[in-house]
Amino acid sequence: MALSHGRKSIRATMKPRSLMDGEELVNAWTTRIITLFPDTFPGVLGASLTGKALKEGKWQLQTTDLRLYGEGKHRNVDDTPAGGGAGMVLRADIVGRAIEAGRAPGPLLYMSPRGIPFTQAMARDLARGPGCTILCGRFEGVDERAIQHYGMQEVSIGDYVLTGGELAAQVLLDATIRLLPGVLGNEASAEEESHSAGLLEHPQYTRPAEWNGRTIPEVLTSGDHGKVARWRKEQAEALTKARRPDMWDRYDSED
Ligand code: SAM
Repeated sequence: MALSHGRKSIRATMKPRSLMDGEELVNAWTTRIITLFPDTFPGVLGASLTGKALKEGKWQLQTTDLRLYGEGKHRNVDDTPAGGGAGMVLRADIVGRAIEAGRAPGPLLYMSPRGIPFTQAMARDLARGPGCTILCGRFEGVDERAIQHYGMQEVSIGDYVLTGGELAAQVLLDATIRLLPGVLGNEASAEEESHSAGLLEHPQYTRPAEWNGRTIPEVLTSGDHGKVARWRKEQAEALTKARRPDMWDRYDSED
């Protein structure tokens, strides 16, 4: 894989290694995060499979510190809402400068409780693309003119309000990065998971065979793969019907 460091181009050896400061991977799935809190990244994405994949250059993270584009002695980035009301709003001109300073290839997303709900299908689409730029809001959010000018896609991770977009961005990135080629050890496991085929996943069991008087369903230890597959499908369907009637209706109508 080719790396570029300033004007230098470096060939990576077969052995994966961490990037030096300022180095960039060419062709790796890339995300640029625009945030007032760049130190919160990679955050949880630095652990486990996503962290290993980051070290191996399967994806790369770039951060833009919004504060650097602020104005005055205190590098102010926000101002009071036009029309009055509580809180502060991130200024369009400041956000604009941070975006113009550099974007990753792919869509420009703004994490927002007003956005379209994030789904597994969106994670799959993002993973198929070259990457994305994510704006993390704070305070009362971002001046609408910046959202419209740059055609940002507003994405929500659920019907609740967080203090800022950083956690939301990490949720979106975790779900996406694990779908990049070679990140999950067992590619098949992503295909059978909840939300992949329109159903919630069947219950899982492992050793010990008995725990607190509870045993593993016999069919799972029968060695009959056909029976196991049928049992898992029945369980997945029953769970989905009981817990997520909205998903069940969609699944049922597609059958
Ligand atoms: N005043 C905004 C509203 O009512 O829609 C909420 C602003 S919230 C306190 C600050 C920032 O947190 C938002 O700009 C957004 O980036 C992020 N955020 C909050 N909840 C979110 C959610 N459910 N999904 C994605 N981002 C969220």
